Amino acid sequence: MDLRQKIRVVDDFPEPGISFKDITTLLCDGPSFQSAIRQIADFGRPRAIDLVVGPEARGFVIGAPTAYALGVGFVPIRKPGKLPGVTIRKDYQLEYGRDGLEIHADAIQPGQRVFIVDDLLATGGTIHSCIELVERSGGIVAGLGFLIELQYLEGRKKLAPYEIFSLIQYE
Ligand code: AMP
Repeated sequence: MDLRQKIRVVDDFPEPGISFKDITTLLCDGPSFQSAIRQIADFGRPRAIDLVVGPEARGFVIGAPTAYALGVGFVPIRKPGKLPGVTIRKDYQLEYGRDGLEIHADAIQPGQRVFIVDDLLATGGTIHSCIELVERSGGIVAGLGFLIELQYLEGRKKLAPYEIFSLIQYE
């Protein structure tokens, strides 16, 4: 099954110069969605995963079914102010201004092996923040899984030495 042809590439969205990879065209095709999740879960399975963690919002769409396929729990990472319990927060610099991500402080037990999953690896900034939140929670990052990797942005370099799996690559 060629999953790549299910991705809709929209040039100059959301701003000029960005080649947006729209995964909704893959998600709405049942066999493609199932095949994608199976392959991401297959990467995680031999790594003795205890939990899948995914960042808002597309990380939920890929991460939650991956957790279900592996028979483990799912932990969301969200924008500040969305999670009701006590949180751990990571702030980071954007091109203009600052943003942040939060995880529930009691979601990961020390020593648990965590598979971090998102729809797309671009610069790696989002996942770098997720790794920090997992590790500050006491978790062990046992792998990183993506539907898409934009290799030309070299996010993989920023995330070394973690083990990375991506299903579809754009050079
Ligand atoms: P980054 O932190 O640079 O790795 O960006 C990762 C996040 O931004 C992913 O969760 C994507 O949802 C989104 N993203 C970045 N670039 C693109 C793109 N070209 N097409 C679609 N989504 C993107």
